[in-house]
Amino acid sequence: MARPRSVARGVELFPARTPTLPPATHTNSYALGGRDVILVEPATPYDDERREWLAWARGLASQGRRARAIVLTHHHEDHVGGADLFSRELGLPLWAHRATADRLPELRVDRLLEDGEELVLEGDTPSRWRVLHTPGHAAGHVCLHEEATGALVVGDMVASVGTILIAPGEGDMIEYLEQLDRLAALGAEVALPAHGEPIAASTGGPSPTDLFRHYVVHRLGREAKVVAALASASAAGASLAELVPVVYADTPVLMWPIARMSLEAHLIKLEREGRARQAGAGWVGSG
Ligand SMILES: [Zn+2]
Repeated sequence: MARPRSVARGVELFPARTPTLPPATHTNSYALGGRDVILVEPATPYDDERREWLAWARGLASQGRRARAIVLTHHHEDHVGGADLFSRELGLPLWAHRATADRLPELRVDRLLEDGEELVLEGDTPSRWRVLHTPGHAAGHVCLHEEATGALVVGDMVASVGTILIAPGEGDMIEYLEQLDRLAALGAEVALPAHGEPIAASTGGPSPTDLFRHYVVHRLGREAKVVAALASASAAGASLAELVPVVYADTPVLMWPIARMSLEAHLIKLEREGRARQAGAGWVGSG
């Protein structure tokens, strides 16, 4: 695959190998902006990939562009593996949401991004990227939206390769679904995920809005299976180990350890909505 590749006006894609969740193998970085540039996702922890990433970032200068900052969409390992090195080597500040910075005490985050603020990148055609705080997958997750072009950097809110894990404790299914609805309402032209190809109706895929809605429908469909499984469980309740084969019968057994985490995130959502409760070592439906 050729790196980098232009994927939208003023947006370059640079995928790099990372220790991410299979079947994904890479995390995408993006350079946003025609002259002033922000680099999103300093992801790779591998030396060979880091060298190429740095060569890409340094090469921007030969096109009359200049990198201003490095943005972290969230704190997960497969998104921040190069953050410290790239920031030091390029002399660039790191920008992230406070809830991301809090989870990376070893990193020096120079600017805390807030929901609704605009990042203005100067150039012949200045680009303006709105910060959206979109918790759910991770507490400090942010997306970046350029209204003028309809480009939307979505981090790990959706992916075109692999699945998005909402892990209990770390993730929050209620917030995640709320934020997907919020992203759908933007009517974006192209969604730029951290894993897999850009998502746009113009390339024959679903529109970003359709994809966000599909994710919501899919998760609520899974939730309905959880509710049905609880309804047919005995009064003593059903354990996670008992629920997984029922709720994820359509999912390869290999994926069940991950499915189990997702199941728990669904149960916590249902519990907060008064639709399930813990009973002994298991879960029962309620309400
Ligand atoms: Zn993640």
